[in-house]
Amino acid sequence: MSNPASSNEIRTRFAPSPTGFLHIGGARTALFSWAYARRHGGKFILRIEDTDVARSTPEAVQAILDGMRWLDLAHDEGPFYQMGRMERYKEVIRQMIDSGKAYHCYASPEELDAMREAQRERGEKPRYDGRWRPERGKTLPPPPEGIKPVVRFRNPTDGAVAWDDVVKGRIEIANAELDDLIIARADGTPTYNFCVVVDDWDMRITHVLRGDDHVNNTPRQINILRALEAPVPRYGHLSMILGPDGQKLSKRHGAVSVMQYHEDGYLSEAVLNYLARLGWSHGDDEIFDMRQFCEWFDLDHITPSAAQFNNEKLVWLNQHYLKLADNGRLAADASERLAQRGVDPEQGPSLEAVVGLYKERVATLNELADAAEAFYIDLHPAPELIALHLTDAARAALADLRKRLATVEWNKAALSAALKETLAATGLKMPQVAIPLRVAVLGQPQTPSIDAVLDVMGRDLVIARLDRHL
Ligand code: GLU
Repeated sequence: MSNPASSNEIRTRFAPSPTGFLHIGGARTALFSWAYARRHGGKFILRIEDTDVARSTPEAVQAILDGMRWLDLAHDEGPFYQMGRMERYKEVIRQMIDSGKAYHCYASPEELDAMREAQRERGEKPRYDGRWRPERGKTLPPPPEGIKPVVRFRNPTDGAVAWDDVVKGRIEIANAELDDLIIARADGTPTYNFCVVVDDWDMRITHVLRGDDHVNNTPRQINILRALEAPVPRYGHLSMILGPDGQKLSKRHGAVSVMQYHEDGYLSEAVLNYLARLGWSHGDDEIFDMRQFCEWFDLDHITPSAAQFNNEKLVWLNQHYLKLADNGRLAADASERLAQRGVDPEQGPSLEAVVGLYKERVATLNELADAAEAFYIDLHPAPELIALHLTDAARAALADLRKRLATVEWNKAALSAALKETLAATGLKMPQVAIPLRVAVLGQPQTPSIDAVLDVMGRDLVIARLDRHL
């Protein structure tokens, strides 16, 4: 599948099933797997587990690719699609049958139901009883006519399967607890656990990080790998992510899809920084970029306990990264968000300058677009604001200011001086002029520093908006 590499290369993978969005938990798994490969100069592989044809959709594949791209979690190999590897799975199944590691089972579903019912009645745990499992000295019944068999893996019957989970510690399962797993259905299609095993083997995966909903699959997968004489990767099962109320994170808690965070106005670096700390820690460090994360990330500091989602913290990180973000990038984003609202920022003040005024005052890119919008629309301040702030005295002061603004040199210092001249001429205090001025030019009683706002808006726009109220 890839060039032969040095035998100690770290190889991780992210293996989502394309049945919905890339959700927050999946993105964290991807991030940890990616960072571990980066940290060790290894390879990160993307594999799309699309064998559940009833639930997999091309849209969901695209959603995963979009989410990974937005987060900039670049894979080194893949994406590999399991549906494209069917021949390989079938080949391995044939080899396993030939070598006695797997066998045909002709038991019908009805027969198996009856078997389990009888086991339950006897107070036993329902499990496949091995009726078609070949054993030395055992005579199997002749295969029934017209029945297509499934293929079962010949699981060891004694001993235990154990692994040192990098998150949860040692886990040991008695083989007596595991029955002979179906690895191919009657129609010949391979089953989920089997495909994962063949892929992890062929892709030479050294470390499997995944959600702990897969813990029960791991002993089965290890047994199959051993039967194939394949190396067994190290496994780490990440605890689930809980909502703020302590329940499993779900749509009830708000956004769970990564791209929803994009839509809601979060920067990808804030989401990544947030996810990095969701179940992993580096002392008390809260704010760090991905370069730093890739230097620090280790498996020893993944917490085995469930991580709780905290939206305030994400907002806090977003505010932090908004302040740091380049104005050009923020303007490009705001431009898209404004276009979605039918607002064209081409006509009017520099959008880069506008976002620069607000980026330290907002929590999200949507709030930034909200603030920017007032600079580009046909502005009509709310009547109650006009009634409250644009009194006769205020209008007289704005008329005075308007005259000065017609000729003043257009820069912050000169604008500020013009305002002070108006205060001197009218005997009013700064807020008595600045608040009506803000309402007149931006429709809001509060804005960033008014001289900076006027400077960015430009003379024509300021005078046009003032004239509506004079
Ligand atoms: N396809 C599985 C999922 O989306 C992950 C399998 C694995 O990581 O082994 O939950």
